[in-house]
Amino acid sequence: MILHRAAPRLPVLTAPLLALCGACGGEGAGARPNIVLISIDTLRPDHLGCYGYGRPTSPNIDAIAAQGALFEQHISSAPWTLPAHAAMFTSVPDSVHGVVDAVKFRLSEDFETLPESFQSAGYATAGFFAGPYLHPAFGLGQGFDRYVDCVQTVPDGHVDADNEWSMRDPVLRASHHGVTNDKVYAEWQRFFGEASTEDEPFFAFVHLWDVHFDFTPPPPYDTLFDPDYDGPFTGRDFFYDPAINAAIPERDKEHIIALYDGEIAWTDEIVGRIRHDLGAAGLLEDTIFVITADHGTELFDHGAKGHRTTLYDEQIHIPLIVHYPGVVSAARFVGQTRMIDLGPTLRDLAGLPAVATTMGESLGPHLRGELVGGPDRPAVSELMSVGRNLRSLRTSSGKFVVNHDDGGSAWFDLGQDPGELQPLMLSPEGGGAGLKRLYDEAAEEIISGLSRAPGGAAAADVPASIQRSLAANGYAGGDDD
Ligand SMILES: [Zn+2]
Repeated sequence: MILHRAAPRLPVLTAPLLALCGACGGEGAGARPNIVLISIDTLRPDHLGCYGYGRPTSPNIDAIAAQGALFEQHISSAPWTLPAHAAMFTSVPDSVHGVVDAVKFRLSEDFETLPESFQSAGYATAGFFAGPYLHPAFGLGQGFDRYVDCVQTVPDGHVDADNEWSMRDPVLRASHHGVTNDKVYAEWQRFFGEASTEDEPFFAFVHLWDVHFDFTPPPPYDTLFDPDYDGPFTGRDFFYDPAINAAIPERDKEHIIALYDGEIAWTDEIVGRIRHDLGAAGLLEDTIFVITADHGTELFDHGAKGHRTTLYDEQIHIPLIVHYPGVVSAARFVGQTRMIDLGPTLRDLAGLPAVATTMGESLGPHLRGELVGGPDRPAVSELMSVGRNLRSLRTSSGKFVVNHDDGGSAWFDLGQDPGELQPLMLSPEGGGAGLKRLYDEAAEEIISGLSRAPGGAAAADVPASIQRSLAANGYAGGDDD
């Protein structure tokens, strides 16, 4: 059987694509590499070894990062699952793709999404998702030949009728319980077993959900980082249980964070298994392997928990690691990059044409070593849901945040105050003025992007079961995900 090696093989591209491919240069041009895009939901880079974390949470990811490119300051467009993945697939910010809240919105069919580009180029495309917001009802299944729902939806009996929080939508809460990595991995294996023996290359999107709360990793990861704890907390119902809050003793917080880290270690094992599968099939050299996330999460950093609540770094700073031997050398890029850059980068590395509506920019020239110095790009993040109306502009050294409801603004000097604990006011002496100018330019670019975008988000046709579930839970107007 023919494997997806980088050896010359007649591409199954259309003639215009072939012409573009021949012109795009780079060792990978025309090779038609496979793509494995792993989105680890809710993964904070500061909890990975390769980003400097002290605990050994991520030996497999660290090994991949050591051989590939790591972007230290990669910034998401949004602090929650639905708009972040919409941005990952369209490479435009929330204001432009328009999927800024649940139930009412779905991604417009008129965008050319990242999987659609690869599908059009003759790739076999597959996606495996385990979080409810990845449901095709929200438009995120566009371009996948196969889009497999691995969400855990069966109530597991953990409902206490005496507790209001426990009664809030047991169906959806069940999606946070338990373990789904196994199911996603099994679906990956099923797909890979077929795809690795076919002539055409493949694009696989692997969404791993277990790092998202609840923090209930399977053994041995449940006790890996805090085996001696004998307190009352389990990581279960992290978000819903009001007893878990910033006022609990530090020792209990440490335990909850140890469970979050256990979920990362468990998910790292899955990443290692996928890498092993590629290696066993001889496809490591011919695959662009990407590890990233949709957003982070707050672990009491600003006195609260979860995400979809602020635009602080713990919610919008995400990892980006790109491994593509022979094309991408081992490198660490310290300058800032953006989630919306990922789509253009993957199309570039694979020799696909650019898409006019994207607002990101390929990192390919940096990854291929064609440009001296790394990228450093201002990043826009937005939260227009759950009663918030926030937009931020972040550079490597500062962040400017605007609340569009009351017109208020503040900025942070990230060099002096990396934890964003001291909001600063704009001052005539120039404090924050440079950030404000970049913010205004970004706002203009968003208006320009809207004029090129193929139309607003279509109304979501969410199945009644999911809609009821989301609404009851407060997904449509509450705080979650
Ligand atoms: Zn998410």
